[in-house]
This record gives sequence, structure tokens and C-alpha cells, in this order.
Amino acid sequence: MPLDVVKLTMDLVGYNSVSELTNVPVTRYVAKVLKSLGFKVEELRYTDMNGVEKLSIVGKLGKGTGGLTLMSHDDVVPATNIEDWTGSPFKGRVSKGRLYGRGSADMKGPLAASICAAAQFRAKDLTAPVYIVVTADEEINGHGAYDVTRRSKLFNEARKGCGIICEPTGLRVVYAHKGGLAIRIESKGRAAHTSTLKGTNANLKMIPFLAEMKKINDLALTSRRYRNEEFKPAHSEWSIGINDHNTATNISPVQSVCRISYRLMPGVDITPLIERTRKSAHKHGLKFQLLIRTEGLYTSPDSLLVRTALKITGSRKPTTVPYGTDGVAFRKKMKQLIVCGPGSIAQAHTVDEWIELDQLNRGVDVYSRFIDQFCVNGRL
Ligand SMILES: [Zn+2]
Repeated sequence: MPLDVVKLTMDLVGYNSVSELTNVPVTRYVAKVLKSLGFKVEELRYTDMNGVEKLSIVGKLGKGTGGLTLMSHDDVVPATNIEDWTGSPFKGRVSKGRLYGRGSADMKGPLAASICAAAQFRAKDLTAPVYIVVTADEEINGHGAYDVTRRSKLFNEARKGCGIICEPTGLRVVYAHKGGLAIRIESKGRAAHTSTLKGTNANLKMIPFLAEMKKINDLALTSRRYRNEEFKPAHSEWSIGINDHNTATNISPVQSVCRISYRLMPGVDITPLIERTRKSAHKHGLKFQLLIRTEGLYTSPDSLLVRTALKITGSRKPTTVPYGTDGVAFRKKMKQLIVCGPGSIAQAHTVDEWIELDQLNRGVDVYSRFIDQFCVNGRL
């Protein structure tokens, strides 16, 4: 059954699925479309930390295991500066070869392209299965993807195959992206009116620690050891955030919090910088918590998946991107992963977000060629 990629993208954009809201209605709609195409659909629900219902799904067309998995998320970032939008962010609008709306590029358009590509195949024509994964919460913490990786029976049978994360790359083939690191450091003080000298200012203990963090940042940005030439930029910053939540200047701050984040790169061992931070925190009487450490994505540029992807997309060289995707979760089980999708990341998260209709159509074409290669020809 042929599906129209522009209409399907408009339908998806029409659901307000900002990450803080539920994504259940839009995901149910996708599940319905997939079922109408002959997909078997597994639902993975959870309640997020704010008590909001979330739903991720894994659809499967065809028999067997492995094959090809096309992955997207259906949550979107908020449509801020709403007065600057030309139309409603949650009502798709086509004008001069572009489809406008929140999520059109990131990434309801790419999701629609993957579904429309799969719609060109019937289960009986496939020698290996096609899976379509749709996750919740990619824009905030990747919980949906971690949940799929942990709990999904279908993803577990797909993991030996190849995966494409359909985030917008202008249909360039991305073989590696950075991961993430988050550290929280807390200093405790005692509240008192500053006129009494009875308080303890929590910021004071933080100051020498911050000076040390500045040194680490300098090192992270200049040392060859923390550089990977495959990326642009080749370094990541030791990003330092500080907050004492103090509302009155005449009261000594009781809490001071420093948040460090860093984009991990494959091939760069960041452990010495983490240990130096831990030691410095202890030396200055601060509480240290390593919250997140997720490795980036890396599939060899010489792998069959990357080489095949280059042929299909007509590109000469694969590339890397400095941002992360749900791939940080999926890579724990699926080893052959690339990022490749229609549209440009430059439009993601912007006012009047758009995707070119030409990219959407090319996306359908590229994904259908991937399915043909991996699931019909059965060469892998
Ligand atoms: Zn995205």
C-alpha cells in the first residue's frame, strides 16, 4: 500500500508530543499505520519521573531475526518563541517545497520516510525482517531507547542485524558520534543572616574546586590525548555549570552545585579527568556523583554496513557528528549502527522548523533501497 510521505509527516506533526507531555497518542497512531502495513507491533510503556505515560514501539515485518532496523523518536523539543512562528508549530504547513512544523526535521519527517519505504514491501517478499523502532524521551534523557534496549523482545532478536538511526543528516552516512558524561558536585553550607557571621557560605568550598575544573577544561581543549581528529570539533569541552539557588543576598548560601558535562569520543579515555575531579571534590569536602557515562557510537568506516550505505546514498566518504542520538543506548546491544536520515540538523529545535519535500522523498527512496539490499537480496 503506497503511503504519502508528506501527508504522513503532516499527520505526525499534528500531534503535540513535546517530551514533557505524553507521546502515547502519536505513537498509537504510528502503531496503527504499521499494523495496516502488516507489521507485528510490540508496545513498551512506562511512566516517566513526572508521572506522565510514555510509549515506545518496535514493529516487525517479515520472518526470522537480524535484518534491518530503522529507528526514530517521536518526542519533540518545545516550540518556544511561539509568537515568532509563522503558523501553529503543531499544524504541518507546506510552502515552496518545504514542510514546516515542530518535529518536521527532528524527526517526524525521517520517521515518516522510514515507514513509507517499508510500505513498499510485503512480508512474503522479505528474506530477512524489517524492524521500525519509535522511542519516547530522546530529547531529554533517552529513556525510551534504554527501555527498548533492555525490555524489547523484538529488538533483542533484531540486534544481530544492522540498524539505521534516521536522525536528519542530509542523508549523509554517519559512522560515529560523541557520547555523554554528567557529573554533579555539591557543597553544603549553613544558612544565617550574613550580618551575624554565623552562617557557612557553601560557595567558598566550591571556589578552589572550580579553579581545578578550569585547569581540566584547558587540558581537555588542548591536549592531544583528548583529541580525536575524526570529529569536528576534535575536542570536547569540560563544560562547567554552577548554581547556588540562593534567592537573598543577605543569607549565606546553604547549597552550591556544580554540574560538569562532557561529550565523550570513541578512542579517547577520559578516566584520568574523572578521577582528578573526584579527588579534587574529596579534597575540598564536596560530594561527588558520576551521573551519566555513555560511550558514543562507532561502527568501522570499513564495515559492510557503512560501505553498503555509501553505495546506496551515492556518497564517497562517511562522516561523524558531534551530537548524540538514541544510538548511545542501542549500541549496548546492536553493534552495526549508523545515523542516516533526510533533512538537516540545522533546522532541528528552531522556530519555523522545516524539512525539504525533496529530502523526504529521497529519504523514502534511500530507505527502500536499504530494505531491498538487507532484507530482499539477503546478502547479509
Ligand atoms: Zn532527534
